[in-house]
Amino acid sequence: MAHFIAKGLLLITTLMLLAGCNDNETRPQIDIEGKTMGTYYSVKISGAISQSKQQLQQEIDVLMEQANDDISTYRPHSVLSRFNQNHSSEPQPIPRGMADIILTAQRIGRDTAGAMDITVGPLVNLWGFGPDKHAAKIPSQQEIDAARANTGLQHLKLLSDSRGEWLQKDLPELYVDLSTLGEGYGVDQLVQLMERKGITNYLVSVGGAVSSRGVNGHNKPWRVAIQKPTDKENAVQALVDLQGYGVSTAGSYRNYFELDGPHYSHVIDPTTGRPITHKLVSATVIAPTALEADGWDTGLMVLGAEKALKLAEEKNLAVYLITQTDNGFIAVMTPQFKAFLVK
Ligand code: FAD
Repeated sequence: MAHFIAKGLLLITTLMLLAGCNDNETRPQIDIEGKTMGTYYSVKISGAISQSKQQLQQEIDVLMEQANDDISTYRPHSVLSRFNQNHSSEPQPIPRGMADIILTAQRIGRDTAGAMDITVGPLVNLWGFGPDKHAAKIPSQQEIDAARANTGLQHLKLLSDSRGEWLQKDLPELYVDLSTLGEGYGVDQLVQLMERKGITNYLVSVGGAVSSRGVNGHNKPWRVAIQKPTDKENAVQALVDLQGYGVSTAGSYRNYFELDGPHYSHVIDPTTGRPITHKLVSATVIAPTALEADGWDTGLMVLGAEKALKLAEEKNLAVYLITQTDNGFIAVMTPQFKAFLVK
């Protein structure tokens, strides 16, 4: 039986879990699902736990709520929204978890030469993909230039000392958008919760970010399927066993709008201020943390197949890229990714 991770109204799913059936189970499997970050989370545990399912779900919901209160740009009073609304160049205190996300984002931003850029928010909103949702419309070049003038990772500084972490900007209108990393961060929070509780057989996901360790209710390793990149069917493209790692897929085929023909993806190229137009339709990354995987997949999506593969090889990343051609889809993967494939 296949189980799909829903990704919200437009993003139906990018990763499909083959998490086991109820028949022939050799150990009990606990399934917990809920809503968070405009999408869904799922926690699957095989084996007994030392508390009730309801108690565990409450703890999960508290964790997810905290993540939203910290980094959601969809909540006007989150720590991140208050930072975005505050035009001051004074350092503003941020929680430790948010600092970890920013640090990862800055590193991947540098490594992708600015392709992954968490200050791209004004452009995301301009194209109608952020919290300022509006009817599909192509912005003018003037509007794009004006929004681009308020972006740039170099305008964001992370400060840290014994008292805590601060975020500082030198552009009053700088708007930080952590949407591309939030799901991975949420997954890592769930992984840490499992580990704190001594649970060693689990599969957790938030939207399109997933992590798993151990075995399912059938005593078999959890399997994650990368879906074929089309918005019309749910067919398996490749199967992986994560072995305690995180995986995330970025795609241009689920969240987009069409106007007078062309297809406008929610992935924005910061150098043009426009949605990507190349033929790379999905980038899947496996990394030690889901946060890392979630950051890289967007960066690689922006770069396009050729540059993405070259960078993945340089950085020894486990990457699976699917490109659209006139004759269908072609997939390439790095040797590091191959090691996770289920034979
Ligand atoms: P990914 O491929 O991981 O990232 C694409 C997104 O990253 C784009 O949508 C854009 O926001 C951003 N982006 C685009 N280009 C770049 C670039 N070059 N560099 C960096 N980032 C880029 N949605 C709702 O509708 N309602 C909610 O209440 C809501 N709450 C949320 C709360 C949180 C904490 C987070 C993190 C997200 C929330 N979302 C909400 C957004 C949504 O659920 C997804 O997280 C978002 O659409 C991106 O996820 P993705 O995996 O589809 O895309």
